[in-house]
Amino acid sequence: MAVHRLAPISRRQFLATTAASLAAGPAFADATPATSPCTKGVVLYPFDLSLGDWPERAARAGINTIGLHAARRLDVLHDFVASDEGQSFLQRCKALGIQVEYELHAMSDLLSRELWFKDRSMFRMDEKGRRTPVSNCCPHSAAALEVIAERAVKWARILTPTTGRYFYWPDDGSQWCHCPECEGLSASEQALLVENRIVRALRRFDPRATVSHISYHTTLAAPKQVKPEAGIFLEFAPYSRNLAKPIASREAKTRRSSSPGDPNPEMNAGYLDILKANMQVFEPAQAQVLEYWLDVSLYGRPAAKVPFDPAVCRADIAAYRKLGVRHITTFAAFIDADYAKLHGDPQREITAYGEALNAT
Ligand SMILES: [Zn+2]
Repeated sequence: MAVHRLAPISRRQFLATTAASLAAGPAFADATPATSPCTKGVVLYPFDLSLGDWPERAARAGINTIGLHAARRLDVLHDFVASDEGQSFLQRCKALGIQVEYELHAMSDLLSRELWFKDRSMFRMDEKGRRTPVSNCCPHSAAALEVIAERAVKWARILTPTTGRYFYWPDDGSQWCHCPECEGLSASEQALLVENRIVRALRRFDPRATVSHISYHTTLAAPKQVKPEAGIFLEFAPYSRNLAKPIASREAKTRRSSSPGDPNPEMNAGYLDILKANMQVFEPAQAQVLEYWLDVSLYGRPAAKVPFDPAVCRADIAAYRKLGVRHITTFAAFIDADYAKLHGDPQREITAYGEALNAT
């Protein structure tokens, strides 16, 4: 792949671009219409498809979307979809009317860490003023954004979602850039600069493309200084929430760490406050929640029985719908063949989740 050395975007150029973007008003005009089907989804590792009839189980439960996830490795998803098993999965989903998407922490795949030895200015600066290849990039490096956008399109040709929605998340919970150009921009704002560049490139390949801005951990806070371009949608993931209590509870303590730098709120309802702020910035009809109701991976291996509480799930969905969220998904990672052997058939939980989605 050709990597061109481009001058970094200056602070002045950046502010001019942002000012023009802000002056242009809301950029929602050509987003997917609000009448698009509501996403009712689960997010799985390809390995979870050892529970061989996941698509059929999802369809029976009224779930219409399966997102494939592989933490931070696009090659794992590539190998799966290129396999006979993967092709069979995709064909069965198509026959059942199940949409398939791909969502993962992609930044270190989109900007190979090996490029550190070619051009260090593409990588972020730490708080001590040193460039480092550890996590994310410098969003004011035009060269970095060009590589990232080019790779995003390359991967989009291989991992093409049936919905036109692309999920190239930043590195997991990681830091962003402190260079003089980026300093003063939050993690959310820096991530959005990259996502805006990706969606522009993707739309030349797939005119209906939209790109997730994940509000999660360091990018929880709503961006203020950078505006989402047309085609960017909010994906909100309340990672540290207390799953035993409804998300609207102001008494339920989250799993937030005691570290003062942890951006997660102390109480469940704090997440709803953050979601509300984000929905002032992003187009509400496209906003999606990515929940953890069925996420066995939170509890590690060997898989624990997921402590799914249908009443909490229903209350949460009602709270999200009240805020205008139409698209709802949950991780269901590690609900696989081994899980079924250890804990019995998981269809009861899958069906209860589907019923909660379809009841409100
Ligand atoms: Zn920077």
